[in-house]
Amino acid sequence: MKPRIYYTKPSITEKEVAYATDAVANGWGERCYEYIDRFEAAFKAHLGVEHAIATSSCTGALHLGLAALGVGPGDEVIMADTNWIATAAPVVHLGARPVFVDILPHSWCIDPERAEAAITPRTKAIIAVHLYGNLCEMHELREIGRRHGLPLVEDAAEAIGSMYRGLAAGSMGAFGCFSLHGSKTLTTGEGGMFVTDDYQLYETVLTLSNHGRSRSQTKQFWPEMVGFKYKMSNVQAAIGCAQMERIDELVRRKREILAHYRERLGSLPGVTLNPEPAGTVNGAWMPTVVFAPETGVTREALLEAFARENIDARVFFYPLSSLPMFDDLPENRVAWDLPGRAVNLPSYHDMTGDDLEAVVAVVRTAVGVRAEEREGLR
Ligand SMILES: *Cc1c(COP(=O)(O)O)cnc(C)c1O
Repeated sequence: MKPRIYYTKPSITEKEVAYATDAVANGWGERCYEYIDRFEAAFKAHLGVEHAIATSSCTGALHLGLAALGVGPGDEVIMADTNWIATAAPVVHLGARPVFVDILPHSWCIDPERAEAAITPRTKAIIAVHLYGNLCEMHELREIGRRHGLPLVEDAAEAIGSMYRGLAAGSMGAFGCFSLHGSKTLTTGEGGMFVTDDYQLYETVLTLSNHGRSRSQTKQFWPEMVGFKYKMSNVQAAIGCAQMERIDELVRRKREILAHYRERLGSLPGVTLNPEPAGTVNGAWMPTVVFAPETGVTREALLEAFARENIDARVFFYPLSSLPMFDDLPENRVAWDLPGRAVNLPSYHDMTGDDLEAVVAVVRTAVGVRAEEREGLR
């Protein structure tokens, strides 16, 4: 069996090991928040935002932010049907209802027209998820938010390094959240980040994130509301500090990998990869190929071909509305159609040129074989 080509894997150097080791050995007592403070400062500077709070996950950051916006029972929150469950779960936990709308066929992100059409008097927020690093139509979505007086939230879990007209993904909404899970471009193992320019929202989330204890409260053990406990540890933050010092390198390598796939696969007939429209930079978290129906290439066929080569490719997100706990919405045609003919390609930083070419070969063969079969039928 050939050595396995994983689809994601963190890039860990001596720097991460050194910082984590220091945090474990010395980051206690008076120094127990040192790496957390440093990590938040570095994250803010990188994004160009006013406030950041390190959390235990992106899901937690989103839960805190939505709670601070006042999302509660009876409310609706609009998001794309194509998505990871993590964006919908906090909405459900707050007693609100996620409203799933269709995506745009080229960006795989929320369709602004559909989002606007889904607004009702119960709508409390719109969540823009930058899928796989691809950017949402932020200009249109922000206008819709403004027109209807609704906060636009950015789930930038997959979009560190992505830029929209000079602005970092995650820095453009009422608040943004990031995932630092081991599969993401920048990681702390598990972890997340809440960011905002809104001071009031920041203070509310800070209090909520610490079991409802305001930082101005001098009385010990005195929460003023029921909050959450979604904090990051100093040891995790130490890993984050090292990763943050390497952020340009980490994003550059992701972009190189996507560029390689695009160069080797993008010109095959009926094959498209993550877009990068003018005025944007795609952080390239997850290179993904989509096959036009006429290629005849399916997810199942391709995953089998990858498995034979011991390559770990993954399925494109199923529409959330197709999951058992939600109502089917097959009218979200793009979201329901794409997954059957799309696959996520391996993209970890340490992939070699040979690894990339092994992946390329599987895709080229799949497309070529299907084309030959069709020729044979004529
Ligand atoms: C990874 C991911 C999350 C969840 O991140 P966690 O840190 O695992 O909570 C949320 N939204 C999207 C779009 C993701 O890809």
